[in-house]
Amino acid sequence: MGTPVLTIDVEEWFHVCGHPVYSDPGNWPGFSKRLHVTLRRILEILDGSGSVATFFVLGWVARSSPSLVREIVAAGHEVGCHGDEHRRIWEMSLQDFRRDLARARGTLEDVTGQPIHSFRAPEWSMRTAGNPAFTILAEEGFRVDSSLMAVPPLGPVTNPKAPVMIQTPAGPILELPPLAGTFLGFPAMMGGGWTSRFTREARLVRLIEESCNKGEFPVLYAHPWEFDPEHPRMKLGVAAQVVHFAGTSRMPVRLANLVRKIRFGNVSEAARQLRLARRFDVLSKDALHGVAA
Ligand SMILES: [Zn+2]
Repeated sequence: MGTPVLTIDVEEWFHVCGHPVYSDPGNWPGFSKRLHVTLRRILEILDGSGSVATFFVLGWVARSSPSLVREIVAAGHEVGCHGDEHRRIWEMSLQDFRRDLARARGTLEDVTGQPIHSFRAPEWSMRTAGNPAFTILAEEGFRVDSSLMAVPPLGPVTNPKAPVMIQTPAGPILELPPLAGTFLGFPAMMGGGWTSRFTREARLVRLIEESCNKGEFPVLYAHPWEFDPEHPRMKLGVAAQVVHFAGTSRMPVRLANLVRKIRFGNVSEAARQLRLARRFDVLSKDALHGVAA
């Protein structure tokens, strides 16, 4: 039996990738911060539930709101890294990716006093297991990634749907991919996002249970801005508008119901269980050539 894994990507409502205004860190000090409300709302829902989560935090958030990040740790949860300035990996050179990653990790370790070993790429921008950024992750001391989506256009359907060990020249990275499924017959994100929000709760619970029964570790994810009834209005394209707003009013009740029915663990617990049982495929160098897009 696998254990479901709960993850939260800790970013502000204005951390939108690829937007001419919102993706520019120079503009961020001018926006009103909401994490003091939205992140605490998630912590309250989890409080006393018996579930623990991994919170992938932006380095920028840890610098601007360090006490909030310490509240995550004080509540018994784990902190991972979501990059520093929420930049998509493919927008950066590998050197810039390393700089962004190392800055975030250093900030998060300073703020939490704990080593940071797990990573989630902003906007699922790792894309494939053949991405050379995995080698940089290993070189920078990371051991677990949860960024590969088997849902186009965020990643090819051939991406792993269950935990795999990715062998890089600098060492192995355990990949825990988010739960994927179908929505109206198409490959879709089921671990989070709008397709998950519009999936009936009973179906989602069934998918989680089926995945666990197969010995997998289904990964769910959410963002604090999905828990904000006072989310500031934004000028976004149609797709981003759907991602940010459609069905978000369901999220607080949805998460509260899920943690009542299911006990979630964090990324480190899942990694420990998987390594002990050696219950994952290993993607060798040859296999990586096959999966690299
Ligand atoms: Zn993000």
